[in-house]
Amino acid sequence: MNTPVVTPSLSDLVVERVGFGIFVLDRDMNVLMWNRFMQDHSGLRPEQVIGRSIFSSFPELPRVWLTRKVESVFQLGSFAFSSWEQRPYLFKFDHDRPITGGVDYMQQDCTFMPLMREREVVAVCVTVSDVTHVSIVQREREEAVAKLQEYADRDGLTGIANRRCFEMRLRDEFSRWQRYGGDLSVLLFDLDHFKKINDQFGHMVGDTVLRVMAQRVAGVVRVQDTFGRFGGEEFALLLPCTPLEDAMRVAEKIRQTICDTPVDVQGDPVPVTASVGGAAARSGVSAYEALINEADAALYSAKRQGRNRSVAFT
Ligand code: GH3
Ligand code: MG
Ligand code: MG
Repeated sequence: MNTPVVTPSLSDLVVERVGFGIFVLDRDMNVLMWNRFMQDHSGLRPEQVIGRSIFSSFPELPRVWLTRKVESVFQLGSFAFSSWEQRPYLFKFDHDRPITGGVDYMQQDCTFMPLMREREVVAVCVTVSDVTHVSIVQREREEAVAKLQEYADRDGLTGIANRRCFEMRLRDEFSRWQRYGGDLSVLLFDLDHFKKINDQFGHMVGDTVLRVMAQRVAGVVRVQDTFGRFGGEEFALLLPCTPLEDAMRVAEKIRQTICDTPVDVQGDPVPVTASVGGAAARSGVSAYEALINEADAALYSAKRQGRNRSVAFT
């Protein structure tokens, strides 16, 4: 007796072998077809899922969302999609990436395709693509961009805002002040006789002093204020919503903070002082650069008056 040989069609072979999931649902969400990819990743063979509701085999599926999606394809007769960026996965399939990828399950893009017979949708074919690698690359890229952004704004030696970042903040705050008024002050600090510190202890110690000073001052300024390194041993503080009088009180507090505690360099106390100049936005000041120039003029005056003091621009 001859057993009939069932020869699968070419399209059957393709569906079976393609590198993404294919399954078909009827209007009641029953499974009509289930390819090898789906079997391999779910551990369920076609005879275990076909003829049953997809939700009885996979109770964890987002029932409302998936039903609505399939229903819309039946009604409109057009394709629908779901990207990993909106919904990272439909099925909780393991992925074959190292744990370090940072994703929990296989990330999936899904397509919902109407299967038409005589202009009527008779079933919906769903494809599931493994886009884990894409999502990992994308996430790494986003992290790298965020890190670059962070580096672009930071001063390499001290870790506080660099001059570019400081000036951008000042420019923004200055435009806000021009539009809405209020108060806005800027302080410029310059360490006194810093050349001597370098000459006496060496450049490395000079660098340590700059780092320690920056951290110490950063610890006493308000979070709303921007503290940045303006140049070599010159720092700047932007104080939004602060009149000059209050800004000069902050200047004194910082000057004290700097001169009160010598920087400890390998057991040696290195005394450091700073001079400060302050200026505030007011009518007649038409650009943020003018504010910096005024603070700089006040700083110069503090130096001339003997250093280790703060002076407001008048
Ligand atoms: P004063 O401001 O009190 O007038 O004297 P000063 O000696 O601090 O003045 P000046 O601005 O002429 O010198 C600043 C010195 O700061 C010169 C430079 O060698 C040093 N300097 C600038 N940037 C750095 C840096 O990143 N690291 C170190 N170690 N030194 C720096
Ligand atoms: Mg200087
Ligand atoms: Mg100096």
